[in-house]
Amino acid sequence: MRYDDSPPPPESASSVSPDPPWYTRRSTLAVAVAALAPTALAGWVLTQVLTGSGPGGQPPQPKALPASHTAGAGAHGAGDAKASTATPSPAASTSASASASAPAAPAKGPLAGRTVVIDPGHNTGNFKHTSEIDRQVDIGTNRKECDTTGTTTNSGYMEAEFTLDVSRRTRTLLESKGAKVVFTHDADRPWGPCIDERARIGNEAKADAVVSVHADGVSAGNRGFHIILPATVKGGAADTSKIVGPSRDLGERIAGNFARSTGSAPANYLGSGTGLVVRDDLGGLNLSTRPKVFIECGNMRDAKDAAQLTSPEWRQKAAEGITNGIVGFLGG
Ligand code: ZN
Repeated sequence: MRYDDSPPPPESASSVSPDPPWYTRRSTLAVAVAALAPTALAGWVLTQVLTGSGPGGQPPQPKALPASHTAGAGAHGAGDAKASTATPSPAASTSASASASAPAAPAKGPLAGRTVVIDPGHNTGNFKHTSEIDRQVDIGTNRKECDTTGTTTNSGYMEAEFTLDVSRRTRTLLESKGAKVVFTHDADRPWGPCIDERARIGNEAKADAVVSVHADGVSAGNRGFHIILPATVKGGAADTSKIVGPSRDLGERIAGNFARSTGSAPANYLGSGTGLVVRDDLGGLNLSTRPKVFIECGNMRDAKDAAQLTSPEWRQKAAEGITNGIVGFLGG
């Protein structure tokens, strides 16, 4: 299902953020953003093709998206800044890295020296290890199952396959920008890891950002993506007071970039159309001491969303959106 922790049903899954998010304060704006995203992407692709150009080319997204914000939302403060910095051009990235040395050094990049932990939700082996993953673990505020199986599409494509694929694509993109990328697992273990270990891996890596990749499993007709942000919790080993703020920043940047990159809209079934939900019941967030969010990329049980989730081309766009959000958060 949705998370490495067993989730409440959608109706109760919402410690929905009381704060309007930066990139859509009205659901109509969400629609506008979603509608513009493919245009912006198409424009960017066209620009790349016509100019032949990569380095030095100015991506049009920062122009297009803020324009839509202006039209739809009026005042929005930091939102535009986030949007406009989230997809830096290669030229901007080079200057931002401030490495006086090396325009040509392949090991360098805007994320050189930064560590990102990617957590592919669930594990394809969990279905065969239900007794192991049903074991309770301490999440500080509570006790939860070690891990869950995750969901599948109606045709049997497993969430755990999806999360690993998107995670690997994201890793490739992040490494190309110079980041050190650590996985919580890489199909290299029969099941798990448990949610407490998933959090610990991010903590021990001293990750600058952690993203847990998922897809949802709710009834058909529920569509779109959402980002889960940590609530402020304190109890046992759980204390999110230091990560709530930066995690929201990370989540907002991923949401904006994910919408732009994939053309998907924020979830229509929770989060009030914002694409952002705050939760206090997920061990993977509660135990994290590093900025961390979950992303639910779409609903595997909806045929239209599933058609996207099962498409390698769409998954690449998903990875690009996640990556660009991380790059924006890390100031690359
Ligand atoms: Zn999941």
